[in-house]
Amino acid sequence: MGREDCVFCQIVDKKIASETIYEDDDLVAFHDINPQAPSHILIVPRKHITNLSAIEDEDTPLLGKLLVVARDIAKENHLGEKGFRIALNEGKEGGQTIFHLHMHLLSGRRLMWPPG
Ligand code: 5GP
Ligand code: ZN
Repeated sequence: MGREDCVFCQIVDKKIASETIYEDDDLVAFHDINPQAPSHILIVPRKHITNLSAIEDEDTPLLGKLLVVARDIAKENHLGEKGFRIALNEGKEGGQTIFHLHMHLLSGRRLMWPPG
C-alpha cells in the first residue's frame, strides 16, 4: 500500500479531513475517529512508513520526535496528572488496522492492563 490508498497519508495531505491538534514538518497529530478513551489522539509521521518493523536506522530521530510531541501534547492538556498510555499496534495480532505508522495517546479513563 502506498500513499494514494493510505488513509493516514490522505489525512496528512489534507485530502481527508481530521480534527488536527498539532502539525510540523515531520508529524501530524489528530483525534481518532473512533475513540477508545475520552481522549484518543493519533500521532503520525508525514512520511509513509508501514509500522515499526519498517523503520530504518535513519528514522531514529523521527521515532524520538513522536514521543517528544506526545510529551508536549500530554503536558498541554494536563494528561500526565491522571496518566495516559502510548501504544503502537503492529500486525494482525497486534491489532494494526491502518498500515501507516501511528502512535496512540490514550487518556481520560482507567486503562486496563494487560490490554485486551
Ligand atoms: P490501529 O488499529 O491501526 O492501531 O489504529 C488505527 C486507528 O485509526 C483506529 O483507532 C481508527 O479508529 C483510526 N482511524 C481509522 N480511520 C480513520 C480516519 O479516517 N480518521 C481518523 N481520525 N481516525 C481513523
Ligand atoms: Zn501512509
